[in-house]
Amino acid sequence: MKNLWQDEQAAKYTDELGLRVYTSRLLGQDASLVLHGGGNTSVKITEINLVGEEEEILYVKGSGWDLETIEAAGFAPVRMAHLLKLAKLPSLTDAQMVNELKTQMTNSSAPSPSVETILHATLPYKYVDHTHADAVVTVTNNSAGLERIKAIYGDEVVIIPYIMPGFDLAKRCAEIFEADATDKTIGMVLMNHGMFSFADTAKESYGRMIYLVEKAEEYLKKENAWALPEEAVTTTSFYSLEQAELRHWVSQAAGAPVILATDSSERCLRFVKRNDIKHISQQGPATPDHVIRTKQLPMICHELSEYIKNYQSYFEAHASTPRDGQEKTMLNPTPKVILNKQQGLVAVGQSVKEAQIVADIYHHTMDIIERATLLGGYQALPDQDIFDMEYWELEQAKLKKSGFTPEFAGEVVVISGAASGIGKACVETFLGKGAAVIALDYDPSVTSLFESEAYLGLNVDVTDSDGLQRSLDEGVKAFGGIDMLILNAGVFPGGCRIDALKTNEWRRVLGTNLDATFVLMKLVHPYLKLAPNGGRAVVIGSKNVPAPGPGAAAYSASKAGVNQLARVAALEWGADNIRVNTVHPNAVFDTGLWTESVLADRAAHYGLTVEEYKSNNVLKTEVTSSDVAELTAAMCGDLFAKTTGGQVPIDGGNYRVI
Ligand code: ZN
Repeated sequence: MKNLWQDEQAAKYTDELGLRVYTSRLLGQDASLVLHGGGNTSVKITEINLVGEEEEILYVKGSGWDLETIEAAGFAPVRMAHLLKLAKLPSLTDAQMVNELKTQMTNSSAPSPSVETILHATLPYKYVDHTHADAVVTVTNNSAGLERIKAIYGDEVVIIPYIMPGFDLAKRCAEIFEADATDKTIGMVLMNHGMFSFADTAKESYGRMIYLVEKAEEYLKKENAWALPEEAVTTTSFYSLEQAELRHWVSQAAGAPVILATDSSERCLRFVKRNDIKHISQQGPATPDHVIRTKQLPMICHELSEYIKNYQSYFEAHASTPRDGQEKTMLNPTPKVILNKQQGLVAVGQSVKEAQIVADIYHHTMDIIERATLLGGYQALPDQDIFDMEYWELEQAKLKKSGFTPEFAGEVVVISGAASGIGKACVETFLGKGAAVIALDYDPSVTSLFESEAYLGLNVDVTDSDGLQRSLDEGVKAFGGIDMLILNAGVFPGGCRIDALKTNEWRRVLGTNLDATFVLMKLVHPYLKLAPNGGRAVVIGSKNVPAPGPGAAAYSASKAGVNQLARVAALEWGADNIRVNTVHPNAVFDTGLWTESVLADRAAHYGLTVEEYKSNNVLKTEVTSSDVAELTAAMCGDLFAKTTGGQVPIDGGNYRVI
């Protein structure tokens, strides 16, 4: 634990809410304190309202904000007087609580206040900090957790037994705090949940959090439950086809394509190869808060049908006795975490981002489980508590908030020749439509073209078939499978008549444009066959196929060859539920090939202005690489769901073709 407070940084925040932003971000920077939207903070500020009355307002973290990046606008301002009255009520349903919190805000456009708002209000301190610190969760997920917490903290903290977040927890905390707090109290431990700290200044409240969590870490060190085993593990090969098959079945059971992100680091392999893995991994999540991301248990090995059966039994066993008495509908029964001795940790998500969140949380879970095991045995909460959290409407609402599902959510596309021109435009378009992209190019800049977690750029020469297979393996390791293939890589050599064309040059063009396309299609076919929604391949053809020009023999022949290849693939692969279509672009000038001087030169050659030259077609329109990318994506989408073997021109209308 490191106290990150810096006086000169803090000085930049001039008011009470500003300092609340500052220390919230300090907490958010440490993943062992809070992860992905976890934890919350607040400050109580006295303000004069519009009608001149003095009011105490609780600024509490709003839902949808992350402590690491929170701003003043991320805090919801709620009237303290009303919150304190609510805290005195004998009971309050979740729906009532949400409504009361919202209608007592002084800013209608602020985010919804945290479900722990009333708890923050009842603590009689200006600043309140709350984290789900790994070290505290480790000590409390233990059969002797309570005694250990008492031994660590003495009368520095008030201890609250596990109660689900919401009104009941807030009420119980207020009661226990009133009864147990002394002038030595600086924090509050929530068993199997986390830590609260509080004080009258932002600096002190934050400092107390660091101090308290540090104490739990020191305790774990003293008990030899901190340093994790570090013996070397043998890494094993990754079987990408097996992974794609697993993804196929998980997607089928989930009802939509999913991303499978594999982490075969030594850390993960060491965990999954433990002899007691079947026992320690099947106890439950480190804190109930994690259940909506990771589900209650990871799947071990590949027993998917058994996992789903067990999930159904878990649902049936607990749905009859839900905490809120409301009828429940079973959620998607497929796993979010898969542990496998060969592959390590496999995280499942509807997007790469979601899979990454799952992986991040499970990384912390592994540490917590292993340390608690060293401390005498990891013990998670009973299933009913986990179930109540998983099926709590307020938690489910958080997930639904993301709302809109992009067209290619959970799907993966391979794009060749992705570093420039039409290929690069395809990367942009497919990322924009929610696909994960495996981008291949011989230009090394491909590895760093896009920042997105859904982008994997791999430097490979398409004529190197071993390199291609390695790239596909790497792509499948990152995302789980391949649903779509965009065959775009190709070379366009300068004009040269047949009688002058060197045989080597002819072979080079055919080798890149035709042979390499054939090899890539062949290599990707087994993965496309496993695409949950059916595989799709789109060939970037050329106007030269229906209307060749003099001086482009090798190029035209190679593109005509690719065109026939695609038509045969459409015939052969239909039985595998794979569609293969071709687009024929022409005169796409916004690519690296066409510099301004080349354009001006060609235009002059035809006696046209650059503008006239660019739109020298039936519609007098300019075709851009992003136009081609949009059509390519459409051919992978629902609009072309019943089209295969198709060839669509995108050239503004060409007199010779029509
Ligand atoms: Zn919490």
